[in-house]
Amino acid sequence: MPASRDDIPDLSGAPRTATRISCPSCGSSRVAQMLGDSGGVSYVCTACGHSWS
Ligand SMILES: [Zn+2]
Repeated sequence: MPASRDDIPDLSGAPRTATRISCPSCGSSRVAQMLGDSGGVSYVCTACGHSWS
């Protein structure tokens, strides 16, 4: 009897699109993290569209 299958999804983390950053413009936490042009990281608020880095 296969009692040791390991197909339980990993629920230990938050979705990758969700961050703990708040939008400086509207204060929403619906912020997506994006890669910038020079390899940096920038953020865009999905609530108001404000983007920053
Ligand atoms: Zn915003």
